[in-house]
Amino acid sequence: MKKINLNPLTLSPKTPIPDVSHELILYVEGLSVSFDGFKAINDLNLYIKQGELRCLIGANGAGKTTLMDIITGKTKPDVGNVYFGQNINLLERTEPEIAQLGIGRKFQKPTVFEAHTVLDNLEMSLKANKGIWHGLFARLTSEQRDRMAHVLAQIGLTQQADMLAGALSHGQKQWLEIGMLLVSDPQLLLIDEPVAGMTAQETEHTAALLNSLAGERTVIVVEHDMEFVRSIARTVTVLHQGTVLAEGTMDQIQKNKDVIEVYLGEPA
Ligand code: ATP
Repeated sequence: MKKINLNPLTLSPKTPIPDVSHELILYVEGLSVSFDGFKAINDLNLYIKQGELRCLIGANGAGKTTLMDIITGKTKPDVGNVYFGQNINLLERTEPEIAQLGIGRKFQKPTVFEAHTVLDNLEMSLKANKGIWHGLFARLTSEQRDRMAHVLAQIGLTQQADMLAGALSHGQKQWLEIGMLLVSDPQLLLIDEPVAGMTAQETEHTAALLNSLAGERTVIVVEHDMEFVRSIARTVTVLHQGTVLAEGTMDQIQKNKDVIEVYLGEPA
């Protein structure tokens, strides 16, 4: 099989590369943010290793979305540090700059272009992330085409490449959107509730997809479906009132008294 060299295609010579020589790709330290006096994030620390697949759980309002918003530059914290690798201070970057650095975010609701084909969606995403919308109809290089084929296979939509995205099932739209992130070769993916509304079979496929990405990329998944979390998680972080309540394997988390009290409830 032809080996695909993913990095040089999307990184412009000016794009800094995160220094992961200490194995960590994301450092979040002493982070706090208040909205009208309410502390949505409260002295939060989070360290993510390169290649990790980390699950983030917590009740509604625990601060998961706000944390994602801060990592991706949508919200600026009151205090704290957020570094991509040891060297890139994300708090000094804008939202588009953070995307260009290789941090991709997928929101809960799929936002594919329904009137375009699956392949066109991938192509548009590739070009948009590179900031070349004006060149939307510019021809792709053969390497870019190879990359799109590789991503199509990865998300399991090779057969659907020429279908309109609007005709895909809900699950397929979610995978397409993950593919739209993958064509830009992100190093860190933040994925919000990927299996909400999916069938059992689609959920299984999503678990396999996320498992296949780990190692090659770093993935943070926010999810409420505990069965799904169990199927993908190595390490689970539980947020509560804007801070880390517990962290560990799924077994450790499910036995943790504090977590049972505030989030999981007693087993039936
Ligand atoms: P969910 O599982 O429901 O998505 P969450 O863990 O993602 O919850 P956040 O959305 O981060 O929680 O919200 C944390 C708290 O901060 C909530 O009480 C929310 O109402 C509040 N909050 C978040 N963003 C803002 C904002 N821009 N202005 C005011 N309050 C906000």
